[in-house]
Amino acid sequence: MVDNIYSEIREIKSYAIDHKIPIMVDDGIDFLTTFVIKHQIKNVLEIGTAIGYSAIMMALANPNLKITSIEKDEQRYLEALKNIKRLNLENRVTLIFNDALDVTLHDKFDLIFIDAAKGKNIKFFERFENNLLNKGYIITDNIDFHGYVDKDEKEITSHNLRSLVRKIKQYITFLKENQNYKTTFYKTGDGITVSEKL
Ligand code: SAH
Ligand code: MG
Repeated sequence: MVDNIYSEIREIKSYAIDHKIPIMVDDGIDFLTTFVIKHQIKNVLEIGTAIGYSAIMMALANPNLKITSIEKDEQRYLEALKNIKRLNLENRVTLIFNDALDVTLHDKFDLIFIDAAKGKNIKFFERFENNLLNKGYIITDNIDFHGYVDKDEKEITSHNLRSLVRKIKQYITFLKENQNYKTTFYKTGDGITVSEKL
């Protein structure tokens, strides 16, 4: 059975590589799964399911945890559904196929994990922060964006990339200035922030 889970996960990872789907890197996943165990997280909202990898890893790490995850790409959403069924996690992982910025939820979560369009982090944060319980956490992935965030802007020749990097920097400033949260920045994986609601 355990063997089976490992091979399913290996297959999900290789599907992601083959289809160029940007799933979380190993260090990032270790951080996230350790976090949900350590803080006894029970209800997660994830923005950006892709093919369900990070949602599955959190669910497997903590058997008391439920996840609602939003994905706007239909093919990825369908692949995620398949993967979640294969791992028998349908009872704990709920998928929503929609643009997260068009989704309104009434449930409360103790963790919101933002891992979708990197230029829209402020929008995701503001749209869902009312769904966060007191003392809950908002975790955001790809804050370093493959090292580009620390680079001199003049070195980034692509206009689109430069504008994305600017938006990530704006998000970093937004987090630092936000007095309702205490944000810690981690260099783990592709850069992760943990914002604790005070
Ligand atoms: N969390 C996943 C990886 C997500 S990749 C993992 O680590 O396994 C980012 C995903 O966010 C992509 O599949 C993309 O389609 C999705 N996405 C981007 N903008 C979105 C939006 N506005 N609403 C919902 N999903 C979005
Ligand atoms: Mg990511």
